[in-house]
Amino acid sequence: MQVILNSPGFSYDVHSLVKAFYPEEDIVITDEGTGAPISIRIDPADPAGDDIRGSVSITAPQSRDVAARFEEFSHLSRPEVKNLVKRLLYAVLFDITHRTLPWGTMTGIRPVKVPMKLIRQGCDDAAIKDYMQSVYLTGDEKTDLAIEIAHTEKKILDLTEPGGYSLYIGIPFCPTTCMYCSFTSYPIASWKERVDDYLLAVKRELDFFAGYYDRGPDSVYIGGGTPTTLSPKQLSDLLGYVEDNFDMSLCRERTVEAGRPDSITKEKLCVIKEHGFDRISINPQTMNDKTLRLIGRRHTTDDVYAAFETARSVGFSNINTDIIIGLPGEGEKEVEGTLSAMSSLSPDSLTIHSMAIKRAAAMNDFLSGHGQLRVKDTKKLMDMAEEAARGLGLMPYYLYRQKNMSGNLENIGFARKDCFGIYNVLIMEEVSDIAAAGAGTISKRVFSQDRYERCDNVKDVAMYMDRIDEMIDRKKKLFNKGE
Ligand code: SF4
Repeated sequence: MQVILNSPGFSYDVHSLVKAFYPEEDIVITDEGTGAPISIRIDPADPAGDDIRGSVSITAPQSRDVAARFEEFSHLSRPEVKNLVKRLLYAVLFDITHRTLPWGTMTGIRPVKVPMKLIRQGCDDAAIKDYMQSVYLTGDEKTDLAIEIAHTEKKILDLTEPGGYSLYIGIPFCPTTCMYCSFTSYPIASWKERVDDYLLAVKRELDFFAGYYDRGPDSVYIGGGTPTTLSPKQLSDLLGYVEDNFDMSLCRERTVEAGRPDSITKEKLCVIKEHGFDRISINPQTMNDKTLRLIGRRHTTDDVYAAFETARSVGFSNINTDIIIGLPGEGEKEVEGTLSAMSSLSPDSLTIHSMAIKRAAAMNDFLSGHGQLRVKDTKKLMDMAEEAARGLGLMPYYLYRQKNMSGNLENIGFARKDCFGIYNVLIMEEVSDIAAAGAGTISKRVFSQDRYERCDNVKDVAMYMDRIDEMIDRKKKLFNKGE
């Protein structure tokens, strides 16, 4: 689908919003041509400053409805012009499709940042709701959810000292590759011989961070991939390295994302526990064996029950579980099955993902030949999952969105009051640095409330090891940069 836009500076926002209405379509933004279904003209085309005057005109020539908007404006800043363009475009898209979006014109990853900022400015909930609904056209339900989560996040953040950081270590190996995967992941069987070399490279990055910070991390998160694809000895060595090289006295949370049940053994869990890592994830994604086979997970629901039992017997009292809503072929019956299994497993936190189908994932190709497996009413299924999470005594504490999410929804982390994932909140609110080591990881330096810069490591494992000096140099440049 083509959209003509005379202002390249707004391409990203226009693209995201049109895509939210037409998730199946390729959206092409172009600044020339005729006959496109939507045409947007912003005057001036590249608005700058705090006192911009001009107009926005949007037409939809092919629409049988009268879908067009024109508005003149004055005394707006560039972000306000952007929001105006998105509101007018939303109105046109609504006229054409007769659909609304739960998050209105909000297309960013972190919608909770808006109410968080307003809470910090002293606004009450009614004023925040009014602002979100008038500026972003958000629906009642999502507005209330965002405000509720912002309050919880704030309580968690208020306990964190400023100037801190979280340590993230990426282990990019998995037992097999899930069909929907868009993370950095390689089958462990093909890399077994090189895992030790990989860990040596990771330690070199950790050395850099240990030398850079004069205090220990607020939280440590070992993610991936699947960290429990490492052997007990490799795990023990890595976790011990963190303890030996970082002051852990300020650390409020240590997580190992065990992830795949088919990689978890009692011995590994004991190692994790012995090193003081007391939060783990066991992620089934679904408790439906047929779907597990379909998405290439190669473990069963029985493996999930067994992993939970082992983890509880080892003494873990903070276990997170991830599930995905919108998996192929999963309707109400299958989701009900997963939720009822969650009720018997009783995880301490439950992260509910709304399926995001990224282009790169093999799922996309798969689905193009199996249209009948597409799930239509993700919203209803998400509502069921959220209700079930609250029914388990868990409350929502963080939320994020991704591009191209099923039903334009979100991922929500629910947890017991004493089991909120601190790392998750810190990374969402971008209030402190992320010191990340490993292939495909992203470090972030927070300079001030609205200014942060990131540096990426290459995703390819072999390249990461070969170019480890360059990865460290990238970090030196970012972290030694002046304010
Ligand atoms: S377990 Fe996670 S990281 Fe590994 S292949 Fe599956 S989705 Fe990707």
